[in-house]
Amino acid sequence: MAVRPVVVWPDERLRQPSVAITAIDDSVRALYQDLVDSMYAENGLGIASLQLGDPRKMFIVEPKLAGKAEGEPPVAFINPEVLWTSDEQQDSEEGCLSFPEIYIKVKRPMRCRVKAMGLDGQMFELEGEGLLARCLLHENDHLTGKLLVDFVGPLKRQMIKKKLQKTKELEEVEA
Ligand SMILES: [Zn+2]
Repeated sequence: MAVRPVVVWPDERLRQPSVAITAIDDSVRALYQDLVDSMYAENGLGIASLQLGDPRKMFIVEPKLAGKAEGEPPVAFINPEVLWTSDEQQDSEEGCLSFPEIYIKVKRPMRCRVKAMGLDGQMFELEGEGLLARCLLHENDHLTGKLLVDFVGPLKRQMIKKKLQKTKELEEVEA
């Protein structure tokens, strides 16, 4: 499969409505593999399909963070749904592959429970705490078109836009 370039904000593809996956076929498995390859290439903890410009409703999470043994494949969350979030909150800095080198303080529930379909077509539920809860909610936000910049005010958003634009120009000069 392939490492694909991660879509960087303010690319409109990050805001497109996501589409439910109705069957696990070869094209879904290929998308999963591209997500895996692209996440590892960028050292991410998770990635959502919209970040590769694909609207199908799936994200993946790095196996160790998702409670799997090292060496296991990343966990696929297909058509995910957040079933529950705790009243208790956590507040820490969050990054995103679509906002390279930007970190934003985001308040999120300390724990959450997510239901999704696995790559084997079976439904499963996973409860996460701390960083895992943060990651699950962050990736799920992607599938609803919600992004890190939606947690900040217009001034900070403008600053982030400028910084990302600068990074892009530098990359174009280097390329
Ligand atoms: Zn993200």
